[in-house]
Amino acid sequence: MNLLHELNIPPNYTNSVVQEATIFGKKYFIKRDDLIHEYFSGNKARKFYYFLHNDFPGITTLESTGGSQSNAMLSLAALAHLKEWKFVYYTRPISQFLKNNPRGNFKYALDLGMHYVETDAIPSESQLPDSMWINHGGAMPEAEMGLQMLANEIQDFARNINLSSLSVFLPSGTGSSSLYLQKNLPFRVYTFPAAGSADYLRSLFTQLEPDESLHPIIITPHKKYQFGKPHPDLLTMWLELKQQTEVPFELIYDTIGWSILKNIHLPEPVMYVHCGGLLANESMLDRYRREKILTDTNFL
Ligand SMILES: *Cc1c(COP(=O)(O)O)cnc(C)c1O
Repeated sequence: MNLLHELNIPPNYTNSVVQEATIFGKKYFIKRDDLIHEYFSGNKARKFYYFLHNDFPGITTLESTGGSQSNAMLSLAALAHLKEWKFVYYTRPISQFLKNNPRGNFKYALDLGMHYVETDAIPSESQLPDSMWINHGGAMPEAEMGLQMLANEIQDFARNINLSSLSVFLPSGTGSSSLYLQKNLPFRVYTFPAAGSADYLRSLFTQLEPDESLHPIIITPHKKYQFGKPHPDLLTMWLELKQQTEVPFELIYDTIGWSILKNIHLPEPVMYVHCGGLLANESMLDRYRREKILTDTNFL
């Protein structure tokens, strides 16, 4: 696949349709934010909309930080490419294996021109002249603009089919997507912490919005999974999802999300907001294979 060619087609938010699917016997509306763009997708396309949409005279560089396979990193590399900015990314020391065998988001971000700096002293503000700093995972007030647009699309959808209520469900990492969505939506937003505890997620919400009445409802997963780490349950869920629906899901957040939805009952109708990140499956599946959790027989 030719990455730079793909980026000649700019992100298209009208691609994000709502699709119906029956999964584990229940009907869902799925908001397909994964379709906005292959490299600038999902909630990252929403959180970084402000930066895509506005002009920043004098800015030549984008700086940010996070993990070496993060979905935010790839979307920021795509954003910088579209804006013709240099992209500098601060990350903890990267394994020699990944450096020798770039795969997944890391590979695509490098292809898009990312410069990475390995350091244990991660900065929290710009280090370079004429540069824009974006917080880890895009958790900052600027993220609200794109989430407000998503909230408007969801409300338009509900109005068009005369829904008076809707439960909206999506995963949380930094929690900024679910928080800003809830702030702009008259419907209940439900989420769960994919990394850390419910209390930790609540503290992240509070940092962005002190008024707790504007926070989403946090569901605690019945089982704890270490963030981003392969786990047989999650692979099983991912393979089951493949049989349930043609909608592709990712391995880190969606698998936990659907194992929650399989087990609990939210007030219907329920909308699942697809947060993109599908390209990360490539390197995650590699890890599942290396750890022998995924074998050819899994696919039979
Ligand atoms: C980044 C990401 C999340 C978490 O989003 P936050 O706004 O940090 O809570 C969830 N799902 C996917 C697929 C993501 O890439």
